[in-house]
Amino acid sequence: MVDKAQSLGIDLISLPLIIEPMSEPDRAATKEKFLQFLDQKNLRITSQRRAIVDTVFSTDQHFTAEQLLEWAREKDSSVSRATVYRTLPLLTESGLVHEMDFGKDYKIYDPNYAAHPNHNHIICNDCDKIVEFESERLDALENEISGKLGFEVQSQQLTINASCEEMKRVGACKNKGE
Ligand SMILES: [Zn+2]
Ligand SMILES: [Zn+2]
Repeated sequence: MVDKAQSLGIDLISLPLIIEPMSEPDRAATKEKFLQFLDQKNLRITSQRRAIVDTVFSTDQHFTAEQLLEWAREKDSSVSRATVYRTLPLLTESGLVHEMDFGKDYKIYDPNYAAHPNHNHIICNDCDKIVEFESERLDALENEISGKLGFEVQSQQLTINASCEEMKRVGACKNKGE
């Protein structure tokens, strides 16, 4: 795609850049930070909580509370819904996981903020497929708009609600809720 863009003379800086999943060592380091955060709050790391934390920091997927419960139970079948719902606010409070509202009747959690604090999302309205991207052109535009209005950008995240390939083609997505 890059070669094609270059041969067409497209300005690469202006293309949105799909962000890479966080590397294994980065995820491990982020998990360590969260364990320290729990420690500072004098919160015990129970085996249930350990399974939840291991799950969150071993995926680069966005997840809902119910997905997290399901995945964590694969590691430790004793994980309770209540513990998941008590742990999620701690994860967001630590700043290492972001709670996102895409206008659905559930929140989606994003574990990829530690490496990319200002990334953007495009989400399929039907199956919740998410692609994360950064764009220097978008950043420049946001800086320009903010500057003209007398503001300075502190953080930015753009969300595009859209139809994925499959929804465009057949009008509905097979893999809903996965
Ligand atoms: Zn994200
Ligand atoms: Zn879709």
